[in-house]
Amino acid sequence: MIPAMPTFGGIDLGGTKIQAVIADDEHNALGSARRPTPTSGGPADVAREMEIALRDAAKAAEIEPSELAGVGVGSPGTIEHGEVTSARNLPGWEGVFPLAATLQAALGCRVAVGNDVQVATDAEFRLGAGRLYDSLLGVFWGTGVGGGLILGGRPWTGRGGAGEIGHVVVEIDGARCTCGRRGCMEAYAGRAAMEIHARRLHEEKGRKTDLFKLAAEHERPRLTSGIWARALERGDKLAIQVLDRAVRALGAGIASVVNVLDVEGVIIGGGLGVRLGHPFAKRIAEEMHPHLFADSRPPHVHVAALADLGGAIGATLLMADSLAQPPSS
Ligand SMILES: [Zn+2]
Repeated sequence: MIPAMPTFGGIDLGGTKIQAVIADDEHNALGSARRPTPTSGGPADVAREMEIALRDAAKAAEIEPSELAGVGVGSPGTIEHGEVTSARNLPGWEGVFPLAATLQAALGCRVAVGNDVQVATDAEFRLGAGRLYDSLLGVFWGTGVGGGLILGGRPWTGRGGAGEIGHVVVEIDGARCTCGRRGCMEAYAGRAAMEIHARRLHEEKGRKTDLFKLAAEHERPRLTSGIWARALERGDKLAIQVLDRAVRALGAGIASVVNVLDVEGVIIGGGLGVRLGHPFAKRIAEEMHPHLFADSRPPHVHVAALADLGGAIGATLLMADSLAQPPSS
């Protein structure tokens, strides 16, 4: 039976996990499911896992995907007409892939695709920690570091490439970034870069750490946010050192963006941001302070209120918005 109230699906495609949610018209989650993002294969394999995650969430919400008013997707990379290009941190995704069309055929309902961080920033602005503000910077601290912007109450995407806060330079000729450049904030603060740095200190410099033992114990192929949090709880010196370095880079990078845009609020989200929570949001604010030009009125720094579901709930908003507009074919 098709419910009287429109019901939406949302999928947040991350570098580590795929989060799916089914939400009603008032953004309440009716069911959710999570799967790890494939670490090999290509876009078609990733799309297949996204379909399974959405079907699992729909099952939990007792609805068929074909009964949904539509499914929104937040994806990394550049998005144009439902096609996703150069989604870094995803396996074999260098070229263009028709993600919307593929999922539409698989699920039997409408699909709209947007940039993952912009979608999550919009969700925080409309429903979460950014509700009180007219201008907002979303910083998503996970595998990489993504950024989303709300300026004057509206999302700002520039010419399609705005918000790449992870590639703000915090050190000239600094550490090598996954983008191929040097000294980017992500090269210090992205979880992938943090793992490479920790492994080098451990294997080449002989520094002691429980990080890799913890990952093996929990059968994680990577150092997930949970592994970092556990190492911190144990007082692991190497983990503390690598995280300190990440927080310093985040402070310098975010402050530089605030100096240009003077936003009212900064929302810290992403896997690490949400897992490490308020104590780290406070530390990031402290590390920002020496770099702020207008330091007498710093922006408010919050943890993303929608937490892990923010990206997926934001994706349902994207779908609802796209239904409100005439189809562009
Ligand atoms: Zn970079």
